[in-house]
Amino acid sequence: HDSLAVDDGCSSVRVAVRARPLVEKELVENCSECVSYSECGKQVIIGAERRFTFDHVFGAATSQEDVYTNCVKPLVESCCAGYNATVLAYGQTGSGKTFTMGCGNNVSLLKEDLGILPRAIRQLYECVEERSNQAEFLIKCAYVEIYNEEIKDLLHPDTPSKSISIREDAKGDIVLAGVKEEVVTNFENMIRLLEHGSMFRTTGSTLMNQHSSRSHAIFTIIVEQRSILDSASNEVITAKFHLVDLAGSERVKRTGAVGMRFKESVTINCGLLALGNVISALGDERKRCQHVPYRESKLTRMLQDSLGGNSRTCMIACISTADTNFEETLNTLKYANRAR
Ligand code: ADP
Ligand code: MG
Repeated sequence: HDSLAVDDGCSSVRVAVRARPLVEKELVENCSECVSYSECGKQVIIGAERRFTFDHVFGAATSQEDVYTNCVKPLVESCCAGYNATVLAYGQTGSGKTFTMGCGNNVSLLKEDLGILPRAIRQLYECVEERSNQAEFLIKCAYVEIYNEEIKDLLHPDTPSKSISIREDAKGDIVLAGVKEEVVTNFENMIRLLEHGSMFRTTGSTLMNQHSSRSHAIFTIIVEQRSILDSASNEVITAKFHLVDLAGSERVKRTGAVGMRFKESVTINCGLLALGNVISALGDERKRCQHVPYRESKLTRMLQDSLGGNSRTCMIACISTADTNFEETLNTLKYANRAR
């Protein structure tokens, strides 16, 4: 189980930045670009002189395939070898998180535009097929959404959120009690579940856009394997792969309750705040030994056994380069920088 060399640099979290091309509206409004890149491919420069360094910097012309190959392919491989992994897409609403993650394989989508999810699912089944002479595999998936600190089972929308809870078992593995995992034997069926759950995510709510931009969507693939080479061993190795489309990182305006009607406060999503704290603690050797604040939100609690330790994590910070988004883009780069 520990034959795979996890390249342990200083941090198990890799951070990439991906810029999307200007959208129609920005072109019509004659926006100019406020972001440029260094030649080494690892730095972005915002405004005149603020420079940030990341593991990868993908300009607007970068293909889905390049993002996948650099950021996710190694994680799928290590997941097949028994290690937990997590990919997170971070950024303001409209920055390209859902485009980058992908939420299906529908016919209207060009093959080259397929996002991370369908590519990862394809590679996973290929990987399992290749290893079928070494191990027996059981693949399951679950799809949940966290909104307002409540967990919704997107594959079983009739399950009340109240009956779902996050528990830690004796081995330290995190279990979502009340969420039903589905056993899936092939690519097509898993895509069907992904599309079905994603559809529910966007249509199941009355305030559609608001809702989906403030919620975290977490698609989890569970890979169980038992070696068939060593007949004496019955040990089952389980690895989890979380693929997360995070809530929009922009501050949300909250209208006060009755009696404070004119008061508006601006809040940052609780999960994003906690995630920033956790990832930053993981990258800081002194803090890592003391306390990593997983318990501050449902999101970080749920990802606890898949961030840090032996698991591999990649955060893709999505940005718009339009000058009208300067403030939010700078915030995203600062957040991502703290994660390194
Ligand atoms: P988010 O999920 O962060 O709110 P979306 O993924 O919905 O943002 O992207 C906003 C818009 O920009 C969509 O119309 C999407 O198709 C487009 N878009 C995002 N990233 C890219 C990209 N890399 N190339 C082309 N279009 C993109
Ligand atoms: Mg989205």
